[in-house]
Amino acid sequence: MTSERCAACGRESVDARVESAHYTSEGIVRYRQCACGRRWVDVARFAVVAGHDGLPWSGPN
Ligand SMILES: [Zn+2]
Repeated sequence: MTSERCAACGRESVDARVESAHYTSEGIVRYRQCACGRRWVDVARFAVVAGHDGLPWSGPN
């Protein structure tokens, strides 16, 4: 179980706002911005997502 956190303030990355998301052949690229203002790029590869706990991929939030 991996839980990403903001490097600046320690908030859970799941709380970060998704500014935009792009689907690529590699996976989903999401540009996130934390409440503290820090931005980063989050890449979710399909191979990893599909294998997560054996659950089917249900799409982005
Ligand atoms: Zn933050």
